[in-house]
Amino acid sequence: WCSYMSEFTKTLCPYCGVGCGLEVSPPAQLNKATNRDSQGNPTWRVRGDKSHPSSQGMVCVKGATIAESLDKNRLHYPMVRESLDQEFRQVSWDEAFDLITNRIQTVRFTQGTEAICMYGSGQFQTEDYYTAQKLLKGCLGTNNFDANSRLCMSSAVAGYIQSFGADGPPCCYEDLELTDCAFLIGTNTAECHPIIFNRLEKYHRKNRKMKMVVVDPRRTPTAEAADLHLAIRPGTDIDLLNGIAHLLMRWNYIDTMFIDDCTSNFSAYAEVIRHYPPEVAARQCGISIEDLETAARYWGQSQRVLSLWSMGVNQSSEGTAKVRTIINLHLMTGQIGKPGAGPFSLTGQPNAMGGRETGGLSHLLPGYRLVKNDQHRAEVEDFWRLKRGQISPTPGLTAWDMITGLETGDVGLLWIAATNPAVSMPDLERTKKALLRSPFTIYQDAYYPTETAAYAHVLLPAAQWGEKTGVMTNSERRVTLCQAFRQPPREAKADWEIFAEVGRRLGFGDKFNFANSAEVYAEFAQLTQNRPCDMSGLSHEKLQKQGPTHWPHPKVGSNEFPYSPLPNASKRLYTDLRFHTPDGRARFGAYYSKGLAEPPDPDYPFVLTTGRLYGHWHTQTRTGRIEKIRSMHPEPFIEIHPRDAARLGITDNQVIEVRSRRGQAHFPAKVTKAIAPGTVFVPMHWGALWANDAEANALTHPESCPDSLQPELKACAVQLVPI
Ligand code: SF4
Repeated sequence: WCSYMSEFTKTLCPYCGVGCGLEVSPPAQLNKATNRDSQGNPTWRVRGDKSHPSSQGMVCVKGATIAESLDKNRLHYPMVRESLDQEFRQVSWDEAFDLITNRIQTVRFTQGTEAICMYGSGQFQTEDYYTAQKLLKGCLGTNNFDANSRLCMSSAVAGYIQSFGADGPPCCYEDLELTDCAFLIGTNTAECHPIIFNRLEKYHRKNRKMKMVVVDPRRTPTAEAADLHLAIRPGTDIDLLNGIAHLLMRWNYIDTMFIDDCTSNFSAYAEVIRHYPPEVAARQCGISIEDLETAARYWGQSQRVLSLWSMGVNQSSEGTAKVRTIINLHLMTGQIGKPGAGPFSLTGQPNAMGGRETGGLSHLLPGYRLVKNDQHRAEVEDFWRLKRGQISPTPGLTAWDMITGLETGDVGLLWIAATNPAVSMPDLERTKKALLRSPFTIYQDAYYPTETAAYAHVLLPAAQWGEKTGVMTNSERRVTLCQAFRQPPREAKADWEIFAEVGRRLGFGDKFNFANSAEVYAEFAQLTQNRPCDMSGLSHEKLQKQGPTHWPHPKVGSNEFPYSPLPNASKRLYTDLRFHTPDGRARFGAYYSKGLAEPPDPDYPFVLTTGRLYGHWHTQTRTGRIEKIRSMHPEPFIEIHPRDAARLGITDNQVIEVRSRRGQAHFPAKVTKAIAPGTVFVPMHWGALWANDAEANALTHPESCPDSLQPELKACAVQLVPI
């Protein structure tokens, strides 16, 4: 509450991983110029924070209108019901906590701790994430904590770990304005990370020598700005990347000294790319050999190459292989560890990065540690003052495993917080049936109603953005203190406070003795000491004084991590060209393309791809209540190429039934050349609350990458039936 009384409070936009700085002032201090919501009521005034280095005062429509969502459809009180066909009744926090702790103890006793699961969110602040890890993985001894980041960027995590020995995007946003070639693959940055795109496009417009390549089956606004748009067939990313590698090798654009001194496994990779001559790669991708050669020439002739990607790469049954194949291109050309260069994964959510740092996936532990690593578990057990062996050596259930665990009866208690799986999970009908079978579901969220609340036995009101002070890390590893500027409404509490209170009531009082979120962060930061994501030199106080700060940021006087730069010495990782692998070398990954898990066939002849729109955020829990955004994107639609539309007799706005092997949905047609023939696109934002029968994930499947266990939400086979 430190700056509650000052006119502007500095915070961070709670929507996406760009992490734009915001300044917020209260309605009472405003006059005629007061911001008003669509009903004319004064709202908090939000503006871009010019002093935030990541965004420099810029915001997109989501950040600009965020204040409108503060008071709409809030969940104010704990509510419970015995079964899903009953109405909720309001209860005290005391009653809700008793019910939850009794139920946890019962499940532990009858089914074992492994029947308890929590499904969290990249919307959490770092303190929320950390407290949940301590409760589940430490005190209860189950690794069944997973987050919606599993659906978003777990392939990037796995790819970085396998190639570099540790997670962490090595680049920073300044690289956007220092690069000679931006290679964007599987990312509609203009709509999904608008401020990153603003910075990149501005630089591109001023520097015509700089090249922008966009790889996407759709002609998105991002592709419109490119020098070269490669509209590859869905699922052929590895063919393309290996084809580019083949040409780089043939034309001798490779950095032999870097390969010899800093990498391993190059020969296995070289053997694979031998099989991707341009005529093969171009044919697989459905592009011309000339375009493939142009892409390779842009890459090979640039001093500094920056690749950017997001869900189009990660949400794939070969997501980790795709990430590593992008990284391979950087390794073979020495494009890493220097300004304007490197493989840069863009995170979806505002604090997905904080989730990675705190161990917020079911195979991770805090401080970029792994559940499977004996030494890592022992370090965390000692730090948390637990007996050795308390942390399970087995990775816990992933997001999708929790759904199948409900089907088999192995999950006895599911705790969902700050996410909406009844819209965002794949194979939605199956997901919903599984949620109906849950013996006990706790749903903790700021908003009500949501689609997932319909499957809950207990509702817990959570404080949201602006109502709790905590830390978030954006895509460029920049840590920002997000200060509270108002009290939570009625009885809402910060997520970390709820987890800590449950921990205390379960008998772990000494582990959750936190007076405030600053103490939670202080404890977590010490647990990162000497780890790749070392932020032991940071605290709420320091972040407030010095502003947003990149990690690594070790405590002065601590043992410097062997391969990390000194604090603030560089905003980039690997500037010394030493990696976190045991031999200090980055590893090439050698992958042949496998293609889509569910390719089109005569019965389901189209590839459906899904994605986001500029104005909406995920499942519309916030943006669906903001008039300006609703009017920008009033309804879902399906994009179809004019040639396919003509063949099927489909006209603009005609309602189409889209069927997959799992379900169907209905969308008005948008006939456009922006989508390639044979492919159709639908946005993923509409759940059952917002549109009748237009859920994209009713169609998608849960086939996942074997390494990252991230589902292939980006592509499935469908048939189209005009109604
Ligand atoms: Fe918020 Fe992302 Fe928009 Fe920035 S780009 S204002 S972080 S939604």
